[in-house]
Amino acid sequence: MKVPFLNLKAINQRYETELLAACERVIKSGWYIQSSEVSSFEQAFAEFCGTNYCVGAANGLDALRMTLAAWKVLGLLKDGDEVIVPGNTFIATVLAVTDSNLVPVFVEPDPDSYLITAATVQEAITEKSRVIIPVHLYGQLVDMPPLLTLAKQHNLLVLEDAAQAHGAAIQSKLAGNWGHAAAFSFYPGKNLGALGDAGAVTTNDLKLAEIIHALGNYGSEQKYIHKYQGFNSRLDPIQAAMLGVKLARLNDDIRIRRKIAQRYLAEIKNPLIRLPECLDVERHVWHLFVIKTDHRTKLQGWLADNNVETMIHYPCAPHKQGAYSKYAHLSLPITELLQYQVLSLPIDPTLSVEQLTWVIAQCNIFSADVEGLYD
Ligand SMILES: *Cc1c(COP(=O)(O)O)cnc(C)c1O
Repeated sequence: MKVPFLNLKAINQRYETELLAACERVIKSGWYIQSSEVSSFEQAFAEFCGTNYCVGAANGLDALRMTLAAWKVLGLLKDGDEVIVPGNTFIATVLAVTDSNLVPVFVEPDPDSYLITAATVQEAITEKSRVIIPVHLYGQLVDMPPLLTLAKQHNLLVLEDAAQAHGAAIQSKLAGNWGHAAAFSFYPGKNLGALGDAGAVTTNDLKLAEIIHALGNYGSEQKYIHKYQGFNSRLDPIQAAMLGVKLARLNDDIRIRRKIAQRYLAEIKNPLIRLPECLDVERHVWHLFVIKTDHRTKLQGWLADNNVETMIHYPCAPHKQGAYSKYAHLSLPITELLQYQVLSLPIDPTLSVEQLTWVIAQCNIFSADVEGLYD
């Protein structure tokens, strides 16, 4: 028995005929930039999220950057303003902030849900705070109602980093429809993945959507008329066509991911493994199934020896990266402990029942007696 962490080929092979047909449609259309493929997907994804607008982007990082840039255009943000971000996130969240000449202020997550909370964010607010970027890490929605109340009290903008949370909801309101805007990534490994790079912003703010659309197209609304200093960051029509095929199946995949997670949560009973906290079924779409253990090297080695591939998300927090040596002095003990404890188990929607049973069995057999073997 072999269990890969993520089998992208198998995931996409399920729709191969439709993906090929969609690809052929784009080739034969003769339109390879900003075609109706893009606007159809934007419309379908806005509808999925329940928002009025969706603007495609080249990737998730650009979706974040362009939203911050658009708020600058609107005069809501200026260089040097503070943006509250989780200490434990993928580096892109922080890159978007620093690239926009804004200052990241890191807050600690809750150690069981891995998510920031209104309580931790509150402590980080200063007169310079202008934006909060809640990251729905691993596919679970941050508790948005209290966070939005706090944001309103302090007149802060909320930009959801929903790159890992397509389809997650609180009281039927989906990720992407809580903040003033949200950034999505359709990187191939995400729950809704393209066959290359792709991203999008969702919002209910028409003006913001229009500016982001122009920013992604060299700051232009009309050919050769450049209103803003823009980017070249457009959703590719081929990727839009691929995403259209896969969006129709996203809810099925979420259902499968929830079933896998349910089995892990019910059947992994090893005291050396601490399971993730799932606050509500609809709230989590299980982009990743991340456990904690004080014996990570040994557990990962044990699983590898038993043909179970695992990954670490993430082995190094942004403020400890070479790129951010200026923040290396910061002390974020919860974030820093998590980077040594977390381990992601396979949660690929094409996993077989036998593979899943195998992973669970290997987790349950693991004991600290293998001590030394994998250090
Ligand atoms: C993947 C990801 C991004 C960046 O998306 P790309 O499409 O790879 O640029 C941003 N934030 C988080 C939390 C992510 O997981």
